[in-house]
Amino acid sequence: MIDIQTIKSIAYEHGFDLCGVAPAEPLPEPNARFTAWLNAGMHGEMAYLRRHADLRMDTRTFWPAAQSILMLGASYWHAEQEHEQERMGEIARYARGRDYHKVLRRQCKRLVKDVEALLDEDTESRICVDSAPFQERAYAARAGLGWIGKNTCLIHPKMGSYLFLAAILWNLELPADEPMADHCGSCHKCLEACPTQALIKPHTLDARKCISYHTIELRGEIPDEYHAAIGRRIFGCDVCQQVCPYNRFAVETRFEEFHAHADLAGKSLDDFAAMTEAEFNAFFAGSPIRRAGHEGFQRNVRIVQGNSANFHD
Ligand code: SF4
Repeated sequence: MIDIQTIKSIAYEHGFDLCGVAPAEPLPEPNARFTAWLNAGMHGEMAYLRRHADLRMDTRTFWPAAQSILMLGASYWHAEQEHEQERMGEIARYARGRDYHKVLRRQCKRLVKDVEALLDEDTESRICVDSAPFQERAYAARAGLGWIGKNTCLIHPKMGSYLFLAAILWNLELPADEPMADHCGSCHKCLEACPTQALIKPHTLDARKCISYHTIELRGEIPDEYHAAIGRRIFGCDVCQQVCPYNRFAVETRFEEFHAHADLAGKSLDDFAAMTEAEFNAFFAGSPIRRAGHEGFQRNVRIVQGNSANFHD
């Protein structure tokens, strides 16, 4: 049996800032909240969430051999010049660099390999980086990586919430960590600041009102009633994280891949509006912005151009 501290040290060496263990079993409270959220239709057009709901709620259905879940978190915060965002429109922090899925999967594979080398045997594991029906945030909270804030993000008291999460479901028996207490207290900053009141109550996000959902996930037109609230945002929205007091403690990412795409700084809204589909695909190759597709991104840029008459700074 390998010492869990050794695994945590290896995780840190591979760029993960947080590491903890959750038991490979269902989480009744998060599952009940998730079911109620789905039943209220708050997932909007993200039908995949409903399609795989059963798998999402029981890791044993997903992979019966799992004995433990190693949860990992990596900061993606990078001290950038926010004024660079003004000319081109705002892009959510997580999407300014390279897509994290491949980067973290690669690091998880290296971690597994290093652990297997110490065990002197092969193990079986499944790596999830938003790639399978799995409730990353709920298991990260169960593994003691932080608590789920009223803004629905996982928050660490000394690192904030600009964190990417990854999971390794493993047929290794590892001691589970204790969950962390909720430190939101009487704060309501995120609920008050959300430009579209998408946080309808603490811990409940109605995706159908959320700017991130509209500018990333929604296909087709964004309802007019949200255009003004979108402001300068051409992809995603960070307001509920920007106002969170714990993000004063955000730490610099140790991944250069998550720094802003070097060529973004020179772009303007007009440059984005003029991009053909081929140019969009080439410019944003390896970027999370590809998810909106050329059409969705152009739609967002047009809305921000329409809003620009109201920009005064
Ligand atoms: S802004 Fe306040 S209430 Fe919202 S997640 Fe952060 S600490 Fe919690």
